[in-house]
Amino acid sequence: MSTHSAPTPTADALGDRLAAVRSSVRDAAVRSGRDPAAVTIVAVAKTFPAERVAAVADLGHADIGESRAQELKQKAPELGDRVRWHHVGQLQRNKVKDVVGTATLIHSLDRLSLARDIAERAAAIGVVQRTLLQVNVTGDPQKAGCEPAEVLALLGRVRELDHLACVGLTTIPALGSDPRAAFHRLRELRDAARARYPEVTHLSMGMSGDYALAVEEGATLVRPGEAIFGAREQREGRQEES
Ligand SMILES: *Cc1c(COP(=O)(O)O)cnc(C)c1O
Repeated sequence: MSTHSAPTPTADALGDRLAAVRSSVRDAAVRSGRDPAAVTIVAVAKTFPAERVAAVADLGHADIGESRAQELKQKAPELGDRVRWHHVGQLQRNKVKDVVGTATLIHSLDRLSLARDIAERAAAIGVVQRTLLQVNVTGDPQKAGCEPAEVLALLGRVRELDHLACVGLTTIPALGSDPRAAFHRLRELRDAARARYPEVTHLSMGMSGDYALAVEEGATLVRPGEAIFGAREQREGRQEES
């Protein structure tokens, strides 16, 4: 926690934005005949200080995302068990140890070697790490994720590993692509995967600009950042390296 105990001046604004995001998620779910309770809002806190995360947690919102392992490592001890952490950014081998066991869900598994590293660390600390397989549905060379054609084969290999469970898919559409088409494609891939591997149920998709669309297309996890925390000071890339 910060050393100032005064309430953050943005608490009201945070509350208003969180309420607005919750209500658009609810509306989008209802509009598409879905149960709003089937959608988890992961508030992505990258670049925002721990105090702002604490303010959101104090509003009763526990699911927080980080895209840099370093930030997760710094903020997690300050927030304690008020927060359920999600790791949503690219994960490098040497950061696996900072994320496994702290994150309830790693959204960015994208290759077998990373799955092996995660499983090894999870075994060492005696946990089963839940993950999502990230898929590059728009084929953008700048975006992480496996190829759509690799999904079934990768899932088959990954589920042979002890201490790791892959329970769904993630995508980040390329800038300038049609996000609805990308979300729809991810859902089709999830449906095909689930037919073979029933534990593959989740769909992590949708950021501040398009999370309502993602809910309409079946998202079970949406990842708005700025829509909840406010504008980031530095203009960051849409996907951060950890
Ligand atoms: C930063 C980030 C988000 C949130 O982005 P906003 O534009 O702040 O909504 C979601 N997912 C990932 C993987 C990110 O890196």
